[in-house]
Amino acid sequence: MKTDIISLSGLIATIFIDKEPDKCPICHNFILPLQKTGYEIDKNKYQLIFMCPNLNCHNLFIGYYGNELFLVSDRNAYLMHVAPKKHVDHEFSECIIELSPDFVYIFNQAEAANSINLDQVYGIGLRKSLEFLIKDYLIKLNPELKDHISKMNLSKCIKEHIDDVRIKQCAERAVWLGNDETHYMRLWDNKNIKDLYALIKITLNWIENNLLFKKYMDEMPKGKQ
Ligand SMILES: [Zn+2]
Repeated sequence: MKTDIISLSGLIATIFIDKEPDKCPICHNFILPLQKTGYEIDKNKYQLIFMCPNLNCHNLFIGYYGNELFLVSDRNAYLMHVAPKKHVDHEFSECIIELSPDFVYIFNQAEAANSINLDQVYGIGLRKSLEFLIKDYLIKLNPELKDHISKMNLSKCIKEHIDDVRIKQCAERAVWLGNDETHYMRLWDNKNIKDLYALIKITLNWIENNLLFKKYMDEMPKGKQ
């Protein structure tokens, strides 16, 4: 795709970009952006200014383009990322919001950090959110153990108090990866933050299923004649 930019020398130049952003980073709608202008910031590094055509948004954002080959004569540039990004809170089901408002709050704060590329803070936030999710779940099941569970080490909590094998196994693995995000030395080299996120989501889903299962069994213990 051919586009004009202001070059380093201040003159208009033509470059070829691979694509325009197809999603607005602010309203998160799929869009055909309106390109306003573009600049060469450094050799083979370009910033193109776009406007979201969505009437309720109309915000400007920047598409960052570059060419990793760094061929001076090459005028091909590839979309690397867009900014600024506005974070949208993850929507949780009512039973999770009721179970652990702290988990919801911390998880969304971690996601907000991730949306502005604070990857180190993201991992620590996910690990912290997991602790609140597990402990609030266990305290709901065993309210008499509230003080004991609150003070306990998370791994020990999972080992000693979670009976459901699927939750136990997923949560244990999430803790292993979560510890890699907070400790000096990484033990799971072949796993990353996406795996931690996936394990927390699976743990969350099992917990949600268990809560809903219990709710309906309590509300409808037997059939009506
Ligand atoms: Zn928009």
